Amino acid sequence: MPFDADLVILGGGCAGLSLGVHLADASATRHHTLILEGRTEYTNDRTWCFWRDEPHRFSHLVSREWPTVRVQSAQRRVDVDCAATPYQMLPAGAFYTEAEHCIAASQSVTLETGARVTELPARISGGWRIETSSGQVTSRQVIDTRPPRCPAVGDAILWQSFVGQEIECVAPVFDPTTVELMDFVGVRDGTVAFCYVLPLSRTRALFEYTVFGERPLSAADLWPAQQAALLRATRQQSWVVLRQESGTLPMGLTGNPPTPPGQDYVRVGVMSGAARPSTGYTFQRIQRWAPSAAASLRRNHFDVAHRPDAVVRRLMDQLFLRVLRDQPELAPELFLRMFGEADSARMIRFLGDRGSVLDCAAVIATLPIAPFLGQLCKSMPGMTPTLTGAK
Ligand SMILES: Cc1cc2nc3c(=O)[nH]c(=O)nc-3n(C[C@H](O)[C@H](O)[C@H](O)COP(=O)(O)OP(=O)(O)OC[C@H]3O[C@@H](n4cnc5c(N)ncnc54)[C@H](O)[C@@H]3O)c2cc1C
Repeated sequence: MPFDADLVILGGGCAGLSLGVHLADASATRHHTLILEGRTEYTNDRTWCFWRDEPHRFSHLVSREWPTVRVQSAQRRVDVDCAATPYQMLPAGAFYTEAEHCIAASQSVTLETGARVTELPARISGGWRIETSSGQVTSRQVIDTRPPRCPAVGDAILWQSFVGQEIECVAPVFDPTTVELMDFVGVRDGTVAFCYVLPLSRTRALFEYTVFGERPLSAADLWPAQQAALLRATRQQSWVVLRQESGTLPMGLTGNPPTPPGQDYVRVGVMSGAARPSTGYTFQRIQRWAPSAAASLRRNHFDVAHRPDAVVRRLMDQLFLRVLRDQPELAPELFLRMFGEADSARMIRFLGDRGSVLDCAAVIATLPIAPFLGQLCKSMPGMTPTLTGAK
């Protein structure tokens, strides 16, 4: 039976478009890939940041970088010199534009926007039938990048919920040389909150308010605290809002994802193993995943799921997140110690997912033993593998 496509990618966001671009780059393929995206148009809806690592397909879209990041609480401040691997920013708007152009020029990949998948794809002989808001599509294989379900308590050890605004202030209030990575502003009801500030000039910044907690919070829950923090940070100068963004990211997925409906159907993306459990950083992991998934597909292999993290790292991440969940009041001290006492290059490799055993050991050595031992005893009997490990 002829199919409309050899491969359908459900969702044209970071993972779907990154894979689509790598498939389009290798235009020699005779396979046809169709990306179905629910949005009718792309906007600059998020700002990806990460420490510079190996180059990736979109490195040229980095629009800004900083040599210093700061972690602080009311008591203490640590400035981390990261000039060797600067903290970089890549606006999603530039990524979407590049991906759309690249895919439009390709013979083998098509992006259909305004095509919202409306039902669970159905198995048909040798492939899949997908119902969308703009009609029916059949395909031999499916890669599903959509979140399998809404964020819920229990599906992750912690949720990282945040809202932010890019603002232009009337007076100079920001230090454009230093990113405020974590400015801890409070512990309340089992959560810890901090501000994250990307200074774009002395008057312009992306100002985010983030909460780590067991429950995912909506943007509506967070705006009042973000506005209060912004008023304090700008010393009540007036500002104009240029755009805003929000999100809820899993930190250590625990719930079992809905089983993929069958063979030749794989789930990927931020809610299916792409996010680094202990940080929620995802962009670079997707950029490492996309070329290897594309290469696998070109060899006619369907080996495209995210690779599980190494067992030791997974267990360390789980332990760390459980300590944060159960004792959020420790968060400022733990992060200040890690950033203040570990060698910055080691710490950045560790956060960026590429830490060696020595890097991990050096970071762990900065932490107090008691809370981790206590947590270990508490969680040993019920320690379950995270989703990233289960795949
Ligand atoms: C505001 C924000 C800021 C972030 N900042 C960082 C950062 O600084 N660093 C970092 O490493 N990570 C960051 N992340 C995390 C992560 O990098 C992003 O969430 C990234 O976009 C995840 O890629 P994805 O493809 O899994 O999901 P998405 O990019 O969200 O893509 C999923 C796509 O599926 C589409 N879709 C959903 N349902 C349907 C449907 N029924 N039919 C068709 N299409 C559908 C959506 O429209 C979307 O385009 C951030 C996330 C957010 C939300």
